[in-house]
Amino acid sequence: MTLTGDMLIGASAVRGSAGTQRAFNPSTNAEIAEPIFGLGDAADVERAATLAAAAFDTYRSLPLATRAAFLETIAEKILALGDTLITRAHEESGLPIARLQGERGRTVGQLRLFAKVVRDGHFLKATIDPAQSRRQPLPRADLRLAKLPLGPVAVFGASNFPLAFSVAGGDTAAALAAGAPVIVKAHSAHLGTSELVGRALQQAVQAHGLPEGVFSLLIGAGRQIGEALVAHPAIQAVGFTGSRQGGLALQKIANARHQPIPVYAEMSSINPVFLLPAALAERAESIGKGFAASLALGAGQFCTNPGLVLACDGPGFASFLKATHDALAATPAQTMLTPGIHAVYQTGAQKVGATPGVETAVFGADAGDRPNAAQAALYVTDAARFLATPTLREEMFGPAAIVVRTRDLQEMLQVAEQLEGQLTATLQLGTADHADARRLLPVLERKAGRILVNGFPTGVEVCHAMVHGGPFPSTSNAMFTSVGAESIERFLRPVCYQDLPDALLPAALQQANPLGLWRMVDGALRQP
Ligand code: NAP
Repeated sequence: MTLTGDMLIGASAVRGSAGTQRAFNPSTNAEIAEPIFGLGDAADVERAATLAAAAFDTYRSLPLATRAAFLETIAEKILALGDTLITRAHEESGLPIARLQGERGRTVGQLRLFAKVVRDGHFLKATIDPAQSRRQPLPRADLRLAKLPLGPVAVFGASNFPLAFSVAGGDTAAALAAGAPVIVKAHSAHLGTSELVGRALQQAVQAHGLPEGVFSLLIGAGRQIGEALVAHPAIQAVGFTGSRQGGLALQKIANARHQPIPVYAEMSSINPVFLLPAALAERAESIGKGFAASLALGAGQFCTNPGLVLACDGPGFASFLKATHDALAATPAQTMLTPGIHAVYQTGAQKVGATPGVETAVFGADAGDRPNAAQAALYVTDAARFLATPTLREEMFGPAAIVVRTRDLQEMLQVAEQLEGQLTATLQLGTADHADARRLLPVLERKAGRILVNGFPTGVEVCHAMVHGGPFPSTSNAMFTSVGAESIERFLRPVCYQDLPDALLPAALQQANPLGLWRMVDGALRQP
């Protein structure tokens, strides 16, 4: 497939006229010659949004089997791109080939999971409270609830997941599964990758004879097409992964609309890891090695990167630090996604290192003259300093972490209480740590979306029970997850049908249960 640098608006390839841009290779610090991308403007947003609005009722009314098959076709078309996709993503992101192959597997897996979710139909939450005409003192009407899609969704591709959280990534898969058309704003860090996946998606739309507005891909500056997209009246929800600043800016636009809409923004998290005394005494060295590997993975460019360790002082603390130090010192510097992200990382890490009372334990293997390469870094401080210095609690997007030495559990609890909302919280527990863990858990349940024991937070399973979400600022809405089957909930709303004739009800709620769904009837779950 040859890249053209065009946007994909419905079934058309459209040349943006608001300027041009080349993609960038962070490993060589040079632009990629071909193609030259044309940037879109508000008129392109208008065209894509109008098509999406026109497609909505037809698309959402398709048989569930067709919607599911469409998701599977997208997966097949992505796989059919073969090495072309992986090579281009590698060039544009600097991410290793193996990582990108894994990410492609995850992207395809997500689409297939959602195909299954759609076929099962449980997401419709079909619920029936039959009429009670003789109820005293008042009869009850026939009431039937089902979940419907919100309407067209705007998705902002993430810089750090060029496949799994971009054009056909988790947000897009969940929205399409819900029955919502999608307009993606490509991330400028991987424009060619976005076009390749966008074309695969466009082909899938055509293969199933769907209305063309089910999918569009826009290219351009966030301040122009991103803002116009969120402000467009046809858009009914937004999926975003990126900076706190970017997420909040989009939320502000969404809230200022005549009709405010939800923005599901996944923003910043430092993912605290709590090392309890018995765990440290029993296996400090292996915890150190495991932690260092998790921290440095993918140059630390994961939203679940463990950027904070709270460790009880005592036996094992020094061994943990040494093992972490040795592993990080031997970790080669890795290319970051963009010069901008690299610059922010360098500045942020240096600022932490220069903070009074913070000791630099390791600043990893020298990057030499490789551009945009990040050295892993580890800083150590005590709880009093950490509590007194709010800037130490900010996300450093990259392979850097702060270890906070705590005197005892009480101090650990005090630090935990002061943390902002997190995607994850991790406990390293030994056999004698359960009592301490019991005291920490209620705090962590208030702070985090996922709580892990004796693992590390990087590596997010795509499954039914996953929660990749959490209180602000890890996300803009703690009620939802952006990974896993439950993430479809973000793009649905309940509608109740009162006393509708059977023939006018959606199939999910008709008396004969033509979709063969498990349904809640009069408060009890009923088999088909
Ligand atoms: P970003 O700057 O937030 O950008 C993400 C996307 O949102 C881009 O497409 C961007 O468009 C758009 N955007 C940003 N601000 C906008 C605004 N005010 N109005 C409209 N659109 C806007 O994130 P990034 O480029 O991925 O990385 C920058 C920083 O974000 C990193 O250094 C890191 O700190 C953080 N980050 C965090 C995570 C995480 O998971 N926690 C993931 C990725 C990045 P344009 O670029 O075209 O303007």
